[in-house]
Amino acid sequence: MATAHTHVDTRYRATEFLALDDRYSAHNYHPLPVVIAEAEGAWMTDVDGRRYLDFLAGYSALNFGHRHPELVAAATEQLNKLTLTSRAFHHDQLGPFCQELAELTGTDRVLPMNSGAEAVESAIKIARKWAYQVKGVPENQAEIIVAGSNFHGRTTTIVSFSTDPEAHDEFGPYTPGFTLTDYGDATSVEAAISERTAAVLVEPIQGEAGVVVPPADYLPRLRRVCDEHGALLICDEIQSGLARTGELLASAHDGVRADLYTLGKALGGGILPVSAVVGRDDVIGVLQPGQHGSTFGGNPLAAAVGRAVIRLLRTGEFQERSRELGAHLHRRLGELIGHGVAEVRGRGLWAGVEIAPGGPTGRAASEALMAQGVLCKETQASTLRIAPPLVVSREDLDTGIDAIAGVLAR
Ligand SMILES: *Cc1c(COP(=O)(O)O)cnc(C)c1O
Repeated sequence: MATAHTHVDTRYRATEFLALDDRYSAHNYHPLPVVIAEAEGAWMTDVDGRRYLDFLAGYSALNFGHRHPELVAAATEQLNKLTLTSRAFHHDQLGPFCQELAELTGTDRVLPMNSGAEAVESAIKIARKWAYQVKGVPENQAEIIVAGSNFHGRTTTIVSFSTDPEAHDEFGPYTPGFTLTDYGDATSVEAAISERTAAVLVEPIQGEAGVVVPPADYLPRLRRVCDEHGALLICDEIQSGLARTGELLASAHDGVRADLYTLGKALGGGILPVSAVVGRDDVIGVLQPGQHGSTFGGNPLAAAVGRAVIRLLRTGEFQERSRELGAHLHRRLGELIGHGVAEVRGRGLWAGVEIAPGGPTGRAASEALMAQGVLCKETQASTLRIAPPLVVSREDLDTGIDAIAGVLAR
């Protein structure tokens, strides 16, 4: 456990860092007023030495907890060897990383990128190129079907098909070529799909929307309608994937294989941004030299950390922890329904807790939890998103759930 006060800079207190952030950092976030200085496992320590239980895990970027020893060791070892080459040259981490990620996910080929949004952008480009070259869609007419309340990142193209006014408005002109359907409603996709459809892009569980689990037949029906119309199914598993829901990929709960998956967040082990598009050889294979790239994508440090993440995931230990602790989490949160909680959604160690009308806002509840030493964050106005690191102990998990029960009970 991190001991309070070690390495904490005592010249400043939280308020001074808050003032600096407010003065010099862009105001594109509304963080809780806590200033973290160090962390280990499921625990974080602020600049004043106060300890907090992490119930957010960096939106699933910290699935393995803070500074997992094997991940830190892999990063440190690679830091002392080679960090960057650009893709102008080969290096000895890229091939093994791609092979191991393909084998882990049961796919053929890997396109490494950095952020999640870049992975989604890359999948969109691949799907369009594939539509023109393989499916024979007339140029500039490819359509991609997406779902309402989606969250796929923040680039201009991705926010073009966001239905969240804050993410979308006043960032136009917007990229055309996206068709909105209703999340969870396969019929709306069956109605929208056409010979011009390159792909259907969905989150198997919508995280940002409030951990929304679609009906059990949703993904299987999307798979079927994509097959019938020769369109690609792209599952954005950036938040739902890599053991968060108790499976390597959340879409596996519904027995569905996608043609392309986007991965990110936990792929970087909580150390650095690592993302990827993984999928079919004949689809990712459409990209030729010069048609896509990234200076940092697949760099040696990222690939070495990614390989260490893959080693952890191969053990199945984290998937199992998510299943077991997740069952406990959902059992206990379920008991709060009718006691300040209207609904609990999710899978594995991942939950959206819908606060009952008359209760605190999600923001107020997050602040009250912070005062009790538990850090999570609202998503939407009245939903708490609970996503502890998968290394959390059962005892600590109960501590956090007790705090939630206390804050929401009425
Ligand atoms: C976080 C997220 C992204 C974007 O990832 P960034 O690394 O923030 O660009 C895309 N899709 C989903 C489902 C996400 O949760």
